Amino acid sequence: MNIALIGLGAMGSPMARHLAKQHDVLVWNRTREKAERHSREHATRLANDLAECASADVIITMLPTSAEVDEVVAQLLPKLRQGTLWIDATSGDPNVSKETAKRLGEKGVAFVDAPVTGAVVGAENATLTIMIGGSDADFERAREVLTLCGKTIIHAGPVGAGHAIKVLTNSIMGATVWITSECMLLAKQYGIDLKTALAVTNAGSGRSNASENLLPMRLLEGKWPLIFKLAHHDKDIRIASALSHQQHASTPMLALTQHLFSAALHQLGTNADYIEVAKIIARMNGTSWET
Ligand code: NDP
Repeated sequence: MNIALIGLGAMGSPMARHLAKQHDVLVWNRTREKAERHSREHATRLANDLAECASADVIITMLPTSAEVDEVVAQLLPKLRQGTLWIDATSGDPNVSKETAKRLGEKGVAFVDAPVTGAVVGAENATLTIMIGGSDADFERAREVLTLCGKTIIHAGPVGAGHAIKVLTNSIMGATVWITSECMLLAKQYGIDLKTALAVTNAGSGRSNASENLLPMRLLEGKWPLIFKLAHHDKDIRIASALSHQQHASTPMLALTQHLFSAALHQLGTNADYIEVAKIIARMNGTSWET
């Protein structure tokens, strides 16, 4: 199969590498050097320009937001062929996805939103969880392709459902990271050793991915790697908040989480990792995790 992958960032790059094991993969990236390096190292084909991607059987976008996907769709639209499947793996906006699906549908191009979860390590090891929004038939086509990148592939519902559940699950993670960090700091301030506080949490009902995997390395070892940009996380929570408004829903925890993450983004900047919100919590208390 002929696949074009657009966006060789932290997630798109390993995904393209896995796909190239079974398919003819054409790669395009805004910063061309990354695509050149990818094609040299992973037996993918370098696209001469973005337009070349329009001729693929399957087009996969892995970009920061739906705004960048929209730009790419607009550029490729005149050249797209009937029967092509467009898989948008970006964590995007379900409302935009529905519009995109309509625009592409008029050209006979099928669209699914297929955001992923599992972080860079999941992309590297092809163990991502992928949630897909689209028709039954398009889901099956997308699943066949994405099975090389993920372990769990779920049909979330019609177009938009993948993007919707992705931002909701990331909002749950954001709130969990925040409350766990707050309580760990409070335990420390009370005089409980942080290692002990985390051990108790992980042996009890406060246990989560945040307490088991994300926070120990940062809080105990002082290592703060960039694994998921805070800017991306903030974007996801803002999309979730917009969905809440749209549904006229009452979601005070979500609203609070959105405000906290946006405030943290202003403090930490767009290149911070999302777990660095724990540093803001320490600052709010006039302390740091090291002291
Ligand atoms: P990165 O920032 O690592 O990569 C972004 C990619 O988009 C790069 O290839 C970049 O090109 C390209 N890009 C940015 N702006 C434009 C533009 N205007 N036009 C064309 N290309 C553009 O992001 P990630 O790979 O981390 O994330 C991609 C998506 O996956 C996001 O929606 C994110 O929320 C989601 N996600 C990320 C996870 C993670 O742990 N990182 C986990 C799960 C989902 P260039 O090289 O030129 O900058």
